[in-house]
Amino acid sequence: MALISLVRGMRDLLPAETGDWRRAETAAAACFARYGYGEIRTPVVERLALFSRQLGAHTDIVKKEMYAFADRADEELCLRPEATVPTVRAAAAANLHRGGVARLWYGGPMFRRERPQKGRYRQFWQLGAEAIGGAPAAAIDAEQIIMLSALWAELKIGGRLQLAVNNLGAPAERAAYGKTLAAYFRRHLGDLDEPARAAVDENPLRILDSKDEKTAEIAAAAPKIESALGAGSRRHMDSVKSIIAAAGVEFLEEPRLVRGLDYYNLTVFEWTLKDDARRQNALCGGGRYDGLSEQIGGPPLPGCGFALGLDRLVALAESRAAAAPDCFLTAAGARAEYCMRAAEILRGAGFSVWQHGGGGNLARQLKKADAMKTPLAIIVGTEEETQNTVSLKRLRDGKQCSAPLENAAAAAASLHSPTENI
Ligand code: AMP
Repeated sequence: MALISLVRGMRDLLPAETGDWRRAETAAAACFARYGYGEIRTPVVERLALFSRQLGAHTDIVKKEMYAFADRADEELCLRPEATVPTVRAAAAANLHRGGVARLWYGGPMFRRERPQKGRYRQFWQLGAEAIGGAPAAAIDAEQIIMLSALWAELKIGGRLQLAVNNLGAPAERAAYGKTLAAYFRRHLGDLDEPARAAVDENPLRILDSKDEKTAEIAAAAPKIESALGAGSRRHMDSVKSIIAAAGVEFLEEPRLVRGLDYYNLTVFEWTLKDDARRQNALCGGGRYDGLSEQIGGPPLPGCGFALGLDRLVALAESRAAAAPDCFLTAAGARAEYCMRAAEILRGAGFSVWQHGGGGNLARQLKKADAMKTPLAIIVGTEEETQNTVSLKRLRDGKQCSAPLENAAAAAASLHSPTENI
């Protein structure tokens, strides 16, 4: 019988990769904590109604990518396609905004039934942060951008990324601009590609970031949002730009940056790879969503947040091979109980110990330890067991010693210090 295969668009992360993942997650968690963000974990399963309207009825996610299902009690549920809306729901339900702005970060798998390709999966991981409640201050948007720049620098990928920012204005300004755009695109209907034609009435802003050559050409000549912005919106964005520029963050103003989801207003931002001119593979995007809480039945709460794709971040960041275990414990005649005791004593002192399973004489086991590049071999044979000792050998230079079992850790430490393995 053939092995049952993976579901399309899903993937297994194997031990050779998970170390890089954990390091990226740990760096991000530490970075977010330095800016006062606390971790929140929301469920993978949510009500379908939480997303349908908020993301936009005409967005690809809602129209064709949701993993939606009726559960056994006929409730309309789905696997979350993103975590901003659930985070706002959770913050509002728990009144986290009571003391002012709630700064929250999350990490976990999201699900969208997109067409799988390199860097695009149906289950993918996002890390994100949301600042919910308080005042809709430009300093909050700017601080998130500065925090992410610090993370890119720490992961040594800043030089390969390009930040674009745009101002989508207040909701009424965005809506008015949508009408202007729709009128413009209607005049060019014949030259637009099929998805753009369908979007003219439903979601004209989306056409601005079309990847179709002819459509993109028409979009480039479309009226800019700048003309629809009021003084308050301009002030907000000017302030964001001034704060990030003063912090040394480089950015491009990109009037065609609209982001995929409907809930954004004012600031939107996105990091893409510098050598990816068509912005196919954004690494991280976000913006302000001041009306979102009310749209899901919550209190009026301003908010600003972002999500970064961990699959893409790990692919960009430096990879480091997992370190070999510190000790290879050979089974050379001692009983399993004795071997286990020796291993546990070493582990208790912080050493990682690989216990040999199965047969093979001592020479073959030592060869395997060499191949695994373990620094130490711990030899426990019948003689060691009878004398209640262990023998240790540093494989790099063959230096050996022997010690009473209870001193095994000190003896190991005299030859090699435990490796930090995470
Ligand atoms: P979004 O929630 O669409 O704004 O996406 C935020 C980030 O999540 C993107 O910039 C990507 O890095 C990542 N992302 C979104 N969709 C996918 C996907 N299908 N596969 C892998 N990463 C994704």
